[in-house]
Amino acid sequence: MGEDMEVWKQVFQELIQELKPWHKWTLTLDKDLLPNTLQPGWSQYQQWAFARFQCSLCSRRWASSQVQVLFHMHKSKGEPQGQVKMRVFAQRCRKCCQSPFEVPEFTTENISRILNNLVFRILKKCYREGFKSMEELPMIKEISLEGPHDSNNCEACLQGFCAPVSPALASITNTYHHVERRVQVTHWREGLCSHIAPNPRCRYGNVCCFCLVL
Ligand SMILES: [Zn+2]
Ligand SMILES: [Zn+2]
Repeated sequence: MGEDMEVWKQVFQELIQELKPWHKWTLTLDKDLLPNTLQPGWSQYQQWAFARFQCSLCSRRWASSQVQVLFHMHKSKGEPQGQVKMRVFAQRCRKCCQSPFEVPEFTTENISRILNNLVFRILKKCYREGFKSMEELPMIKEISLEGPHDSNNCEACLQGFCAPVSPALASITNTYHHVERRVQVTHWREGLCSHIAPNPRCRYGNVCCFCLVL
């Protein structure tokens, strides 16, 4: 995840700076991060995302909608700074024997959605801000996937850290446009947001959540 990690870091900085312009947050990769093993004062956030893989032995490509992205986050007490550690779980080719675990490739759109959800979770957990009605932005699946999750070749499954995606979540994934609209309308109804029309200040167009907390 060399170059790719730079994209994650850059998008994270853009999002967090929009919400907390005077606060310094860092995002780093930690391959040893373990789900449910937290240092005191840290919070955890897990997402299951869509990503693509390629086998480095046979070049076969596959996609999965159950790629775990794990975050641990911590805000320094009384200081305008915090840190996030991140781990992405790998998968390996089912056709090759002794294939190595491959790092997933995410689209920029999904990286942005994952980090958007993360930043909202930071607001809630570390700043006690946020909205009851805020739903997670679902991942965009570029293709529809058939068959069950390949647990035998999923690093998270093999380590006992994977969780099934709920059917409800899977169904909204394909209709993300409707979900976005619902998020917006919900905010508007509750008087949280006056931007019922697309908000030019909001990079997400219709999902004008950032403007609320600036
Ligand atoms: Zn292979
Ligand atoms: Zn798994």
